[in-house]
Amino acid sequence: MRLTVLGCAGSFPGPESPCSAYLLEADGFRLLIDFGSGSLSTLQRYAGLHAPDAILLTHLHCDHMLDAVSYVVVRRYAPDGPYPPLPMYAPSGAPDRLASAYGQEDSTVEDVYQFYGLQPGTFPIGPFTVTVDQMNHPVETYGVRLEHGGRVFCYSSDTAPCDALLRLAQGVDLFLCEASYLDGVENPPDLHLTGREAGEAATKAGVGRLLLTHLVPAWGSESHTVESAAGAYAGPLEVVRAGASYEV
Ligand SMILES: [Zn+2]
Repeated sequence: MRLTVLGCAGSFPGPESPCSAYLLEADGFRLLIDFGSGSLSTLQRYAGLHAPDAILLTHLHCDHMLDAVSYVVVRRYAPDGPYPPLPMYAPSGAPDRLASAYGQEDSTVEDVYQFYGLQPGTFPIGPFTVTVDQMNHPVETYGVRLEHGGRVFCYSSDTAPCDALLRLAQGVDLFLCEASYLDGVENPPDLHLTGREAGEAATKAGVGRLLLTHLVPAWGSESHTVESAAGAYAGPLEVVRAGASYEV
């Protein structure tokens, strides 16, 4: 399977990247995981306006879902549309949140998305075997483990350290892990990981390769985060960029 990073900026879009959005492709099927602010732009640049065959939103913070609202226009009002409802795996409350963000009174987006509520467990999406579990974040948030053809990928979404993340990441080939916070300063609890904590999770889970994401533009320091992570994880690691692509 192939991972393409459409956006990786944490919390708000940066000058070089939209917010979180990751395209996972196997057997010609493309699953878009998260659809954060600005990533509808890079979806067109790196994949195509109608590339996703399904969408999974890990949680309903705007930096992970807001362009799913803009995408309503793309599918509903396309000159060759409307397009049929797109499978959308998301936390409970997603239909109302997207409709209210869309902003028309009594609006629904259920003509555009076929919603499936996430809950911890394992299920198929296209050719992928998907396992999700609740992360340590202030809203209902799911980390994701994807398996296909004997290869395994894990995405932390947003989380503070937790056992569920270690279970999802156990032995994966590629671990895409958030590293929002800087080490060595006081950070609020139960929200995000530092570079060191991402590295510790990668070591405990025994992953093959660590990709750091969700660094916060302007407030973060990439060199500081990489150094902290490398102090806790001896395997290959790097910070992802919009447009980067990886074979899992
Ligand atoms: Zn979040």
